[in-house]
Amino acid sequence: MNLRLDTPVQYVKGVGPRMGALLERKGVYRVGDLIEYYPRAYEDRRAARNIASLLPGEIVSLKAQIVSIYSIPMGNSYRKIYDVAVKDATGQIHCKYFRIPYKGYFDNFRPGQEVRVVGKVTLYRGQREFHHPDIFDAAKDEAGQEGLLPIYEETEGLSSRKIMKFVEKALADSGDTIPELLPSWVLEKYKLPLRKESLHKIHKPPQLADHSFSQLKSPYHRRIIFEEFFWLELFLALKKAGLQREEAPPMKRELALAEKLIKSLPFQLTGAQKRAFEEILTDLCAAHPMHRLIQGDVGSGKTIVAMLAATVAVANGYQAAVMAPTEILAEQHFQNATRLLEPLGLRVALLTGSTGAKDRAAIQNALKAGQLDVIFGTHALIQSDVEYQNLGLAIIDEQHRFGVHQRNELKRKGVFPHFLVMTATPIPRTLAMTVYGDLDISLINEMPAGRTPIVTRVVYENKRVQVLSFMRQQIEQGRQAYVVYPLVEESEKVDLKDAVSEYEHLKEMFPKIKFDLLHGRMKAEEKDQIMKRFREGATQVLVSTTVIEVGVDVPNANMMIVEHSERFGLSQLHQLRGRVGRGTQKSYCVFIMGRALSEESKARMEIMAETTDGFRIAEADLEMRGPGEFLGARQSGLPGFKMAHLVRDAEILQEARTAAFELLRRDPKLVHEDHTQLRAELTRSQGAVSLAGVG
Ligand code: ADP
Ligand code: MG
Repeated sequence: MNLRLDTPVQYVKGVGPRMGALLERKGVYRVGDLIEYYPRAYEDRRAARNIASLLPGEIVSLKAQIVSIYSIPMGNSYRKIYDVAVKDATGQIHCKYFRIPYKGYFDNFRPGQEVRVVGKVTLYRGQREFHHPDIFDAAKDEAGQEGLLPIYEETEGLSSRKIMKFVEKALADSGDTIPELLPSWVLEKYKLPLRKESLHKIHKPPQLADHSFSQLKSPYHRRIIFEEFFWLELFLALKKAGLQREEAPPMKRELALAEKLIKSLPFQLTGAQKRAFEEILTDLCAAHPMHRLIQGDVGSGKTIVAMLAATVAVANGYQAAVMAPTEILAEQHFQNATRLLEPLGLRVALLTGSTGAKDRAAIQNALKAGQLDVIFGTHALIQSDVEYQNLGLAIIDEQHRFGVHQRNELKRKGVFPHFLVMTATPIPRTLAMTVYGDLDISLINEMPAGRTPIVTRVVYENKRVQVLSFMRQQIEQGRQAYVVYPLVEESEKVDLKDAVSEYEHLKEMFPKIKFDLLHGRMKAEEKDQIMKRFREGATQVLVSTTVIEVGVDVPNANMMIVEHSERFGLSQLHQLRGRVGRGTQKSYCVFIMGRALSEESKARMEIMAETTDGFRIAEADLEMRGPGEFLGARQSGLPGFKMAHLVRDAEILQEARTAAFELLRRDPKLVHEDHTQLRAELTRSQGAVSLAGVG
């Protein structure tokens, strides 16, 4: 009878070892996991309909009979579409699947079978159809269930209905063991129902539940989503509190060098650049080290802001280091510095993996002796044999995720400089709050004046010949171009072959044009050589399988062609497009689509033609692909939310963040009686890491 939340799931009545093993495949190991295995949707039996009356956009539940089940190969790829046609007395409709829910899913069905179809009606080329609906065997399914029914993600051998039964049992038998973890003042202030009540309601909706319930917008859903965000935000708040206990290298507003630098520029700073610099200045003069992220779209002018920050550190008698992810970028920064900083009397140098042994020794000695002011380089800058006399500011360029790693390496050396991180990946605000929640953010949301916009076209493959001949015209006028192929990890070999053969093909087609090929399997040195040749104009067209490195600036390249562009994420396409439009020439970007898979992927591509606003694109991307893919699943480091959705639930996220930060303000060490449950849970789930912050 009495289950504890940590009881293995197989002991829930009716589950047993076999079903237990299937649940484990879904990440459900214990009773606590099972009651947090939330319905991903609800089926409203009250909205039951017949096929003839369906309207696009509706979420419906209908009884029908299977007519046929087909799989259709997709164009030249190894993908398949599955098509299940169903009918009732009033008509017929197709259910399409662009991926299989799980292996063997379609073996559950046969023509003639009575089923219930639950899903959203979509309009595709003028036809109503379902995309990825849920299909249930009606015979097994009709056991007097009315009203709103939860739909759970299934797996082979484990239907949604079975899961529903298990969860019901788990909830009934765990009775009073579901604790309330949120402090009562938070529940009151944000009007949140209790955790226990919310769990019950979510799995067994009240008979009178309204529309908001099926959209996961009831107060009970809000409560669970709030809590998921709350834990994350509390963790970030603790981390930030920890940082604020460190001591910063003391600095003052020494602006003489910065003012000279600004005067030497051939342009005016944008308002956004000025604002960012002002925010940095405030941080530099504070008692705790700066941990700030500058977010600004490609070409928004982040470099100059970083250089200004460096002058302030130097004017205060400190050294500054600027670290880039690749040698090409480090070199680019160094060249800028010789142009901008040396004339002000600053001593600058470049240190990378390919710096010769003799130079390296000289630079290291100079750094240690304080004879260098600003050092540029790659990861080589924080290697163990590099010592600084007094590093006051570390700047990290083009990092996707803040260089925690770099920060720690420097701290191991006993150096606690101010940190400034720059990224051109426009991260929507909601996501930034979770990924960079412990950092302060400066936004450069304004482009320098006078940029000529890039002409963007989205075309099908059959236009390739025209696109290429347009490219030839541009080359004949002295310009350069990129041709990029996607690199899908699983089929890396296939794509590589594509790019290589296409490269050979292009050379044959245009014997007068000088091509080069760049791909991910090359050694770093080889890549750098190829990029160098391209930058110097020795090659005219760069064919590449991999994303051209972020931040590379070749102003003479004014054309970007992306093949199979539908396979890229929108943010990636935006980055690619950002490689052109950097010079005075009019620039072009052509996204070539393979056979479009759906209206959805076409609509996705059209966003690229509509806007060059990186933030709008990032929002759309995040909405369509979710944060894992958006950031690259492995490096995202994002906690897996079970119900919360960063885009849909942005408002709740904001509330949870406010609450978490308020909690720490009220009770920095979490010693208040109202917070003991919460503290215990933190210790349990996060271990010593976060509590290091509590002290
Ligand atoms: P990113 O933010 O992508 O790193 P950069 O710092 O490389 O961009 O700047 C892109 C280009 O814009 C550079 O050539 C830079 O000199 C120029 N630039 C920067 N700020 C301004 C400005 N306020 N007005 C005009 N041009 C600018
Ligand atoms: Mg840059």
